[in-house]
Amino acid sequence: MQHTECATCGRKLKDKKSIERGYGPVCYDKHLQAIEEEFERNQMTIYDVIEGEAYV
Ligand SMILES: [Zn+2]
Repeated sequence: MQHTECATCGRKLKDKKSIERGYGPVCYDKHLQAIEEEFERNQMTIYDVIEGEAYV
């Protein structure tokens, strides 16, 4: 699945990595921080969380 806009702020995504992630670089950093907090709560791996969201 490919994303054309950032899931957080709605800006258009230009680079391939951002499109694959669905977030711009800045929002992705924030998103990762949120995931890390969730990871600490749930004891999941960060990769489980990222891939689960990417393929919903
Ligand atoms: Zn954004």
